Amino acid sequence: MRFCRILFVLLSEQRRQNGLFSPVSCSARFLFHCCSSSKPRSSPPNCSEPLITGPYPSRLLEKAVQELTRLPGVGRKTALRYALYLLRQSPEVVHSFAQSLTDLRDHVSHCKICHNLSDHDICDICAANNRDRTQVCVVENVHSVMCIEQTGQYNGLYHVLGGIISPMDGIGPSDIELASLISRAEEGEIKEVILALSPTMEGDTTNFYISRRLAHLDLKISVIARGVSVGDGLEYTDEVTLGRSILGRTPLQS
Ligand SMILES: [Zn+2]
Repeated sequence: MRFCRILFVLLSEQRRQNGLFSPVSCSARFLFHCCSSSKPRSSPPNCSEPLITGPYPSRLLEKAVQELTRLPGVGRKTALRYALYLLRQSPEVVHSFAQSLTDLRDHVSHCKICHNLSDHDICDICAANNRDRTQVCVVENVHSVMCIEQTGQYNGLYHVLGGIISPMDGIGPSDIELASLISRAEEGEIKEVILALSPTMEGDTTNFYISRRLAHLDLKISVIARGVSVGDGLEYTDEVTLGRSILGRTPLQS
């Protein structure tokens, strides 16, 4: 911190001597910020980012900024930057942008079978004829479906729980899409249920609960493998992950 303060003073002095001194110059401001703030900052502030958050010259602009701050991780400065950027775009671009958000809210719903997001009552995966309908992969959320689909290694169906059992957060079995999973399994077409939940205490609890609820059915119940990441050295793997890797070892395929 002392080094930063010294560097800040030297930089300010040098810029003053060169006739370039500005109390809000970018590099000097970043150094001052590093010294005065307890929060870590990974990069210098963007000099093009507006520093003034009000008063606004337009009430409509202020309204747009207020709405944009509803987005996670977007503060007023970033929201103002987004709003000014949109103002610089053509009306067609902005109208298309706004329409896509309206359509998102009005027309995207959940698949009636697997609870994945869909533009129709039944999602494309459930409606596809080329998927293996004897396998169902149970995931926590829609994002998990997208991640698994991206691997290209799975051709079965899904079941999106919409959460996991978490007593600490007051989320019980009735708060997630568990009853519909049991119903699907009881129909008889499904032969294997693959549990692909987060490797956390809540994920393990949910896995255990689901396996108990499906125990009366003639099903293969499996859990996705957990272990050392591809490309990682063992010395960089934590002991819990490494321990699970050893317990969940698989036969070497030649
Ligand atoms: Zn579906």
